[in-house]
Amino acid sequence: MKPLSKNLIIFILVIIALGIIFSGYKMQDPKPEVIAISSLVERIEADEIDRIEVREDTLSVFTREGVEFSAKKESGEPLAELLTNYGLTSEQITTVKIEVKDVSTAVNLMRSVGPTLIFLVGFVIVFWFLLRQMQGTNNRAMAFGQSQAREHNKKNNVTFKDVAGSVEAKEELTEIVDFLKHPKKFIEVGAKIPKGVLLMGLPGTGKTLLARAVAGEASVPFFHMSGSEFVEMFVGVGASRVRDLFAKAKKAAPCIVFVDEIDAVGRQRGTGLGGGHDEREQTLNQILVEMDGFDPNSGVIVMAATNRPDVLDPALLRPGRFDRRITLDLPSLKDRQAILEIHGIGKPVEEDVDLKRIAERTVGFSGADLSNIMNEAAILAARHGKKIIAQTEFLEAIEKVMLGPERKSHVLSDDERKITAYHEAGHAIVGHVLPHCDDVHKISIIPRGRAAGYTMSLPADDKKMYFRQGFIDELAMILGGYAAEKEIFGDITTGAANDLKKATAIAKSLVTQYGMSEEMGPRTYGEHEEMIFLGKEIHENRDYSEVTAQKIDSVVLALLTDALKTAKSVIHEQRNNIEIIVAKLLEEESIEKEAFEKIVGPAKKVAKLIIKTEEIV
Ligand code: ADP
Ligand code: MG
Ligand code: ZN
Repeated sequence: MKPLSKNLIIFILVIIALGIIFSGYKMQDPKPEVIAISSLVERIEADEIDRIEVREDTLSVFTREGVEFSAKKESGEPLAELLTNYGLTSEQITTVKIEVKDVSTAVNLMRSVGPTLIFLVGFVIVFWFLLRQMQGTNNRAMAFGQSQAREHNKKNNVTFKDVAGSVEAKEELTEIVDFLKHPKKFIEVGAKIPKGVLLMGLPGTGKTLLARAVAGEASVPFFHMSGSEFVEMFVGVGASRVRDLFAKAKKAAPCIVFVDEIDAVGRQRGTGLGGGHDEREQTLNQILVEMDGFDPNSGVIVMAATNRPDVLDPALLRPGRFDRRITLDLPSLKDRQAILEIHGIGKPVEEDVDLKRIAERTVGFSGADLSNIMNEAAILAARHGKKIIAQTEFLEAIEKVMLGPERKSHVLSDDERKITAYHEAGHAIVGHVLPHCDDVHKISIIPRGRAAGYTMSLPADDKKMYFRQGFIDELAMILGGYAAEKEIFGDITTGAANDLKKATAIAKSLVTQYGMSEEMGPRTYGEHEEMIFLGKEIHENRDYSEVTAQKIDSVVLALLTDALKTAKSVIHEQRNNIEIIVAKLLEEESIEKEAFEKIVGPAKKVAKLIIKTEEIV
């Protein structure tokens, strides 16, 4: 229950109690019998009345025996006149002592209007509560200048142990932990503790996690704020929030201020892109001012994270600000396995589950993707009514994360299934035969996401460099589906459209960015300026002539035609194997690596590097 409604209930109880007390008070008060004026007159005539107290219109009549009656008269009319009008003589009237009393206003008022008043006050207060509740959101706006930075102090128990891999990053950050824990050691030798640490890396590579782990390791308060939270509806709010955040942090020093997604405010100023947001500039300026303003040895360390370091304002990167920069890469095979292990804690898995195999299949996955896989696998197991997660669920989870959920309802016609089977078999066989292609791990004609089928091929190890021949073979493999359709059916479906797009993009990069074509020479064509708008590159600076553009186009086309030729010849040669694969696919819907290699022979991983070193020599 919210405290507010609790208060309300207490309040209502109090009102009820008061009401009971008041009515009780009234009940206990012995009420004198009310008599009419005529009856009073009769009693005076009989000389029974001793005295009458007059309180405005109310008469309290006391008999000589001490009995009290009450009577009412018309207001404004004096009692003596009234009695005379009823025919009493002045002698008769003088036998009665008439005392005119002041009305005890308080009591009387309370008696008459008390209950109403309480009701009214209660009503007003209830109304006021309701109003306040309704204005809850607006009230928050009243505190808009204050930072909503959440301080995670006691709850934060993330440490470096919870971060798998990222060895170099952790090493760098250990230094920061040291600054926070033993600042004296550094100050004594005259060292300036760095103020800012910028974590850079693709989404999901563990930037936020690492920042939190630093605070956890040093056991200092952690002020977490997202860049977008600074930018709100009122101009100037961001700047004032920054001020407030730093004021809070200075009080809590040593501590960490973490500005997540700093690119939301820290974009290069004055580019005009994204609306030339005044508010953002003010906020950024304020961050810069605050970072300059505090003493480096005050114990406040500002950490920030971004996945777009290229768009950050250079002022942020100047020495004395975020001069420590740490890059987080996508995890390597070993790191992927370690991340899977961390996220496997607390999940019951079957004994034969091989996380290494899963790590092998997840090239290019971020830490967040991997944690997602572990979770999806657990969900799948639960949906299958199992208590323990099996390897198959992990493998299924990978495909689900990579390509989207299976679309069982998306039923292909027999013809479509057949074409899809040949198309995928084409990819697979070309990928298998050409020496520089990645190994085929799975072929499937179960529709998933937007794909009717898919061939999963993965590199044997994490690559950091790519050879030209690798690209050439990859182009052939990508066009393998297209080639198979053409070779076998003599026609092409729209199913190959995506392949063509991918192949064209690769061929273009080969020519214009990597200098990998003889004809176009060792240079780049076009400056791809990092001007990203709504996630799309909108600008390419052409630094070559129209004639060159035509030449590039023809070279790109030649690369693709060559690749298609290669693919076709492989498919022609391997027609028998293709038929076997297709038959198996139509029957079983998917083929795993082992079954595939039983048909076509083991993957030839040999020669790859040897050939390449010879090429280099
Ligand atoms: P970022 O801030 O870089 O986008 P996060 O730090 O939010 O990414 O990471 C998202 C999630 O991914 C984390 O909560 C964690 O579960 C998982 N994760 C990412 N990297 C790692 C890692 N190196 N070790 C363990 N878990 C990781
Ligand atoms: Mg993050
Ligand atoms: Zn394809």
